[in-house]
Amino acid sequence: MAEQRPTAFFIGDDLALDFLNSVAAPWGQEIEWLANGSDLVAWLEQAHAVPASVVAQFREDTDFRTLDSVASQARQLREWFRAFVSDHAGKPLDPAVLNELAPINQLLGRDESYRQIAPASPSDVEATEGDRHGTLRWQRRRHWRTPEALLLPITEAMGDLVCHKDFTFVRRCGNCTLWFYDLSKSHARRWCSMAVCGNRAKAAAHRARVRKRLRAAQT
Ligand SMILES: [Zn+2]
Repeated sequence: MAEQRPTAFFIGDDLALDFLNSVAAPWGQEIEWLANGSDLVAWLEQAHAVPASVVAQFREDTDFRTLDSVASQARQLREWFRAFVSDHAGKPLDPAVLNELAPINQLLGRDESYRQIAPASPSDVEATEGDRHGTLRWQRRRHWRTPEALLLPITEAMGDLVCHKDFTFVRRCGNCTLWFYDLSKSHARRWCSMAVCGNRAKAAAHRARVRKRLRAAQT
């Protein structure tokens, strides 16, 4: 039941991979966090993928059937991207994959994003220390004319993963279906999280060692 559903996983260190993780079976039974339109809006809000004011506007103004249909498109997009990631994770992307990425370019071709001059936040100013013009900055915004626009931040995150990140470090948990971007210094991350799979895998390895020792003792 939806009420008993745990909160969604945001362990991917990458929005596009977190999006893949919006369906998962960390405890055996599959959990879907994008079952309908209100799920999709809630997930986008938790992921900070869409501004809170936009989320509130869609919640108020859009009928649930329309949002459900966008959620259905989101699930299709997710499973298409899962197949792409499964095929290419673990090695640098070959430029020949561009053909496969046509759905991303197609969706982003509808984007209505634009830039505005905005005041820089204190952290921006720090980042551009020594630059006399550091008090103003470019800000990217988007017209949200249709509910389908909700798919654009996710699609953009997929493009970011493909263009800005190294697919060598895109990994799947050694114990479940969750994906993550391995940012660890030694690039040796193996688990979605210690709490969900790391401890479980360690306990299983420990049990296996104990069994082996017992067997050795009996022979
Ligand atoms: Zn896991």
